[in-house]
Amino acid sequence: MIRYSGYLMPTTKEIPSDAEVVSHRLMLRAGLIRKVASGIYTYLPAGLRVLRKVEGIIREEMDRAGAQEVLMPSVIPAELWKESGRWDAYGKELLRFRDRADREFCLGPTHEEVITDLVRREVRSYRQLPLNLYQIQDKFRDEIRPRFGLMRGREFFMKDAYSFDADEEGAAGSYRKMYDAYCRIFRRMGLAFRAVEADTGAIGGRSSHEFMVIADSGEDAIVSCGACEYSANVEKAECGPDGSVPAATPAPGPPRKVPTPGKRTIGEVSAFLGIPPGLFFKTLLFETDKGDVAVVLSGKHEVNEVKVKNRLGADWVKLAGEERVREITGAPSGYAGPVGLPVRVLADHSVRGIASGATGANEKDAHLVDVVPGRDFLPESYADLRLVEEGDRCPRCSGPFRFSRGIEVGHVFRLGTKYSVALSAAYLDAFGKEQSIVMGCYGIGVGRTAAAAIEQHHDDDGIVWPISIAPFEACVLPVNTKNEGLVKEAERVGKELSARGIEVLFDDRDERPGIKFKDADLVGIPLRVTFGEKNYEAGCAEIRDRKTGRTDRVEISEVVARVCTAAQEKKKECAP
Ligand code: ATP
Ligand code: MG
Repeated sequence: MIRYSGYLMPTTKEIPSDAEVVSHRLMLRAGLIRKVASGIYTYLPAGLRVLRKVEGIIREEMDRAGAQEVLMPSVIPAELWKESGRWDAYGKELLRFRDRADREFCLGPTHEEVITDLVRREVRSYRQLPLNLYQIQDKFRDEIRPRFGLMRGREFFMKDAYSFDADEEGAAGSYRKMYDAYCRIFRRMGLAFRAVEADTGAIGGRSSHEFMVIADSGEDAIVSCGACEYSANVEKAECGPDGSVPAATPAPGPPRKVPTPGKRTIGEVSAFLGIPPGLFFKTLLFETDKGDVAVVLSGKHEVNEVKVKNRLGADWVKLAGEERVREITGAPSGYAGPVGLPVRVLADHSVRGIASGATGANEKDAHLVDVVPGRDFLPESYADLRLVEEGDRCPRCSGPFRFSRGIEVGHVFRLGTKYSVALSAAYLDAFGKEQSIVMGCYGIGVGRTAAAAIEQHHDDDGIVWPISIAPFEACVLPVNTKNEGLVKEAERVGKELSARGIEVLFDDRDERPGIKFKDADLVGIPLRVTFGEKNYEAGCAEIRDRKTGRTDRVEISEVVARVCTAAQEKKKECAP
């Protein structure tokens, strides 16, 4: 049992002006964290209790899944990062420095290099595999825009796990185990989440899922199917087959040029010519490391740059600027079209749905109508190149898509042999042949998860912690600290609850009742036991549920049993 009177949990009414999201505001107001520098925080006692609970759940599930805990240093010698090639590739998020002997180091933003170095030294034989090692450790990333408190910090705790298998099949099994462990972890924290397919981006790899806590304040846009399990980051979400059939028979004659003075956007030209946007061949020019490329899609859709990049196998793509557009098309932007264009043309599937349509004439103030794909321009391929949008259907089951926002709290990733090849982490197989180890990596942001839980569980009065990660399970609150008998009785109940395994905050402060109530609500303690004067005289106390607001007046002799039952009930809501 902890006594509030001597406890450093400085609650405040003030709303800090730089705190944009509710979790950041509430963590400050509830006295859980304090800022030291941008993206760098001190965890106060109650805040640390929350982090320890999050870590505890993660640790239990990692151990259950057969992973072994290690602890790696924050300070990493540059040599290891040079071996993997990331010393140059990682950019400014990597904080680099030199020691007194002028040797280069960095603060670890992630630990693939260090763990692969360990494993290449210790693992020789297939008999030592599979292996899964994890740590819960302090990371540093010099984020450009640290914000939202613990959500995007510069120094933060992460659980990072790394699996090592003899082959791809084994690696797939390790991945699955971690995926299942993550589902248990987030369910045990009482969070509504989705595991979404993510783009593997620059790290490369076979597959990747992000675990997203659903919250409007989330930085990521995700879609999920209302009928099946399919969920994806909008960046990655596949568009189902475009069911549309060409609306009209193709124009019999050749394309006709029509004047469109000053009309550049699809909206303007569509209104001017009286042709719906869906019948436009929208043409976007990209500069890429594979050369210039035009992407054609129906005017009612938006291009997805990630898909274009993946389709081309390019390292980078970017929309061509005004100058480059002029060089390629001979016209200002707004008049590009695929007919006679001197660059590679990729078409989105939606182009097939247009029998004949309109497009830019590659000439200022002019467009073409009666353009027929396959006749007037020939795309080198048709592919899924657009962003999913409202009204799209699931690529797996044709169910309706739902759009929501999410906070990425965890990430599981199949790495293949990227690091084991770069750092020569190999083992001898049963035939004595040297093979590369196949890896996976798996991260969870500890502080970000706590913040995400607040985003999902709060009300006007403060935090409403799921009991599994609350700093305290119950608050015992004597209303009048001058009344000795009452305080004694409240204290006895608090101690008994503690003895029964309930984590109790005993609010023995000499404060007005209103302040005590407000603080208990703000800090979000799931159960509150109030000893008021009148009730006490009648041998009663009140038990209040933070989430529902339900208040029960019970005899003091029953309080302990009732609180234990209520806590048990709440724990069921956090079942794996
Ligand atoms: P983001 O896209 O949000 O920057 P990331 O893709 O860089 O995340 P990973 O490298 O996959 O993140 O890291 C694993 C986990 O670490 C993330 O899922 C997230 O929970 C946490 N995390 C990453 N960056 C931060 C940060 N700046 N502050 C707090 N937690 C973070
Ligand atoms: Mg990042």
